[in-house]
Amino acid sequence: MAKEGKIVVLSAPSGCGKSTIIHRLLEGDDALPLEFSVSATNRAPREGETDGVSYHFMTTEAFRDAVAEGSFVEWEEVYPGRYYGTLRSEIDKRTAMGCNVVLDIDVKGALNVKRIYGDRAITIFIQPPSVDELRRRLEGRGTDAPEVIAERVGKAEYELSFAPQFDVRVVNDNLEDAVAGSRDIITKHLEA
Ligand code: 5GP
Repeated sequence: MAKEGKIVVLSAPSGCGKSTIIHRLLEGDDALPLEFSVSATNRAPREGETDGVSYHFMTTEAFRDAVAEGSFVEWEEVYPGRYYGTLRSEIDKRTAMGCNVVLDIDVKGALNVKRIYGDRAITIFIQPPSVDELRRRLEGRGTDAPEVIAERVGKAEYELSFAPQFDVRVVNDNLEDAVAGSRDIITKHLEA
């Protein structure tokens, strides 16, 4: 039987470069052997997002049904009225076949996954150099309205308070260093 796959969980306040880091780790000649766990959400797709690739987009009713059916390993109301969850089907089948999975989820979800999977999972917190720098990055991205940015900065301060509970923390001051640092940490976890 194949060795059970490992689980890598990345969390970061919005705008810390987490998605960029994950893409860099999964693409190219030196891509890590990780499959992306596609979460479910009841939020509307953003421009450029594809159902089943970015997220499994669901109605609120379908999301609640999935919760009731026990389809989620974990789920959270990350923003008021906006639900996100990790489907069991994204993790268990793959890891049973020996594939490793990577999750991009919020801080509480990450700590729940760690509680469930123990040493098979590693939790990595991607940290901004500072909250001020994070605010500048979100403004520079130009995708969010000022009130959305204020909401995200407030949320970031809250999320940063969870950083000590993660297995490791990577400061994204310089993208190349953050990618290299994350790559080393994940490689060691997959080899252990
Ligand atoms: P966004 O709406 O910007 O794509 O994501 C908002 C937040 O939801 C991010 O912090 C993201 O990591 C988190 N998130 C995405 N999928 C999941 C999930 O399956 N579970 C949890 N707990 N959080 C998630």
